[in-house]
Amino acid sequence: MNDKEFAKQKARVVKIAGWWIDQLWLRGWNVEVKCHRGPWVGMRDAGAGFVVPADITCHWQYAEARININLEEVKDLSKEKLEKVLLHELCHAIVNEMRYWEEDHSHEERVVTHMTRAFITVRDHSRGKEKGLLDIY
Ligand SMILES: [Zn+2]
Repeated sequence: MNDKEFAKQKARVVKIAGWWIDQLWLRGWNVEVKCHRGPWVGMRDAGAGFVVPADITCHWQYAEARININLEEVKDLSKEKLEKVLLHELCHAIVNEMRYWEEDHSHEERVVTHMTRAFITVRDHSRGKEKGLLDIY
């Protein structure tokens, strides 16, 4: 990925992440979006052949987080799919302190995946893209 493409992809990621940081009331946090041209040092292994396009490291006690994102992995994603990747990571920031009690955070993954889908549904509804319960009455 050349510098021009990197800058273009980084701008796209930062714009979407910034919008969701506002929507999720995370502006009081220091959220760094660290863009990489490939895998980063310390990248988690998703296992089972899954490639991790992004992850987040949180210090919830200090309201600080860093999203690492592999631009090579997300450059061809639609806006909607990239949005889900970033929203998923930001949801981890909200619930991260729950991880305190468990070594395995698969429960947190399930909750965050659900939250991501719910937020997307609410966002779509607010834009009139999807009929919700309130539209029935
Ligand atoms: Zn996750």
